[in-house]
Amino acid sequence: MDGFLSFLLFAVLFYVMMRFGCGAHMVHGHHGGHPSGGAGDKHVDPVCGKHVDPNEGYGKMHANTLYRFCSRECLDAFEAAPERYTSKQAEAPS
Ligand SMILES: [Zn+2]
Repeated sequence: MDGFLSFLLFAVLFYVMMRFGCGAHMVHGHHGGHPSGGAGDKHVDPVCGKHVDPNEGYGKMHANTLYRFCSRECLDAFEAAPERYTSKQAEAPS
């Protein structure tokens, strides 16, 4: 019985380590991003619809999402009424 218990303990420990390691890796990968994202990594300015490079323009965190703006004017417009630009497909033009 002792052998079984120690095996069980080892199995649980191993499972926890695997889970913790995997979760930590996923979180790290998510936040770290890719070293060189490539061409498809541009953000779209939600105000004017322009593509904004990650190292250009202005960035703002809103509702756990990073929005990028091509200019100060767009950032100001977003801050004045963020819900107007963040609610996707709020009004379908049809
Ligand atoms: Zn803009």
